[in-house]
Amino acid sequence: MRITIQMIIHTDDQKIVKDISCLERQELSAETLGLTLEEAKVITSGIQETMTAYQVSQYTSNQRACRCCGKPRLIKGYNPLIYRTLFGILHLKSPRLLECDCQKHEKSSFSPLTKILHEHTAPELLYLESKWSSLMSYGTTVKLLEEVFPVHIHPSSVFDNMVKVSTRLEEELGKEQIMYIEGCQQEWDALPRPGAPLTVGLDGGYVHAREDNNRKAGWFEVIVGKSLQEDCSSKRFGFVVSYDTKPKRKLYELLKKQGLQNNQDITFLTDGCDDVRELPLYLSPKSEHIIDWFHITMKITVIKQMVKGMSFSPKLNIKKLDIEEGLERVKWCVWHGNVFKALKKLESLGFTLEDLIYEEDLVQKSEDSKEYKLWKAVDELQEYLKVNSPFIPNYGERYRYGEHISTAFAESTVNEVISKRMVKQQQMRWTKKGAHQLLQVRIKTLNEELRPAFETWYPNMKKKDYSSLPLAA
Ligand SMILES: [Zn+2]
Repeated sequence: MRITIQMIIHTDDQKIVKDISCLERQELSAETLGLTLEEAKVITSGIQETMTAYQVSQYTSNQRACRCCGKPRLIKGYNPLIYRTLFGILHLKSPRLLECDCQKHEKSSFSPLTKILHEHTAPELLYLESKWSSLMSYGTTVKLLEEVFPVHIHPSSVFDNMVKVSTRLEEELGKEQIMYIEGCQQEWDALPRPGAPLTVGLDGGYVHAREDNNRKAGWFEVIVGKSLQEDCSSKRFGFVVSYDTKPKRKLYELLKKQGLQNNQDITFLTDGCDDVRELPLYLSPKSEHIIDWFHITMKITVIKQMVKGMSFSPKLNIKKLDIEEGLERVKWCVWHGNVFKALKKLESLGFTLEDLIYEEDLVQKSEDSKEYKLWKAVDELQEYLKVNSPFIPNYGERYRYGEHISTAFAESTVNEVISKRMVKQQQMRWTKKGAHQLLQVRIKTLNEELRPAFETWYPNMKKKDYSSLPLAA
């Protein structure tokens, strides 16, 4: 059996029939029923090649007439125009039209086609390149695109286009502000009943750094978060610490999308580090900020482990059991929100441990010694609780009421947002800038906001119902 695929093009004044491709089929087998991927590629690129030739010639001939007097403008010449699409690279001839002399013009000629195709990449290709490369490596994105579409793609163009999309997303975001709360109590009281309370968990993750040629640059921190609302899909959020200039704006826009209003309860759970402590402030008048319970217990557990691995000289009046019990007591106080008591307990523990870090002749032990490290850890815990005491609630009570006490849900976001793409994948190292750019697109993809963004940039990208398209005679 021979199957010829033809295309019929109806222009204003004629009907043109074009051969696209020809298929041969012998005996039916599992792999010959219907189209193969390679055939589909040949057919779609053939259809596109043919249709674009007519589209371009029709468009340019429509552009010929002078907008003022209607006389056809002269063609000064043609410039080659390369346009990348999902169905192949188009090599177009872009005419330069001489401006009509019935009016004065700034320039003597212009290229109508270049005006509309100035991006040189079709929006749908741009969309898939940026979306897929936010989910997998640039190299895998190229392989996948080339496997399913009739295209040849240079890996650097995937990267360039991802950057382009990321930059556009960032530019469209408003400026950073110190304060996002507007209005006054009276106005907030008059607002309609708010939606269910929001819970936002913020946590940090680390990405392998690359600074120019310095391959030993270490790590840098990325803060990610997730905003949860009952009966609603959760949204992710993220920024590169000490690189991103609009972290608060990002969080604010995300909360606004979830319908946050000024009379709505919102709880932020963080690990209490400097980079995030400021973030929840000035976002909403009814916001409450809580330190993640597990970050506190983790710190205490680490200290307990240190104690376990030590042996105390019987000459000293320090018993391991006393220290362990003291730490347990600190934990108990914090669980009940009694930071004051916890700090008192830690202070006295600190005094006890001071005896440990001095040798008999009152020379301080080295900073590498177990004793010094233990004393230091207790001191740091004390400082941590002090700084964060306004954000330490009665966890026990919250727990009994079924309220969030941990950012466990945000920790899985760290994995989802950064680890899967930036840490586990290969031994990749990142610049802050590169991580920042990818993060913008990745978060939009995970939040299912990338396609809507493209549809506002390119309204004709909106999906149509093709099942009911009428067949022309
Ligand atoms: Zn004219």
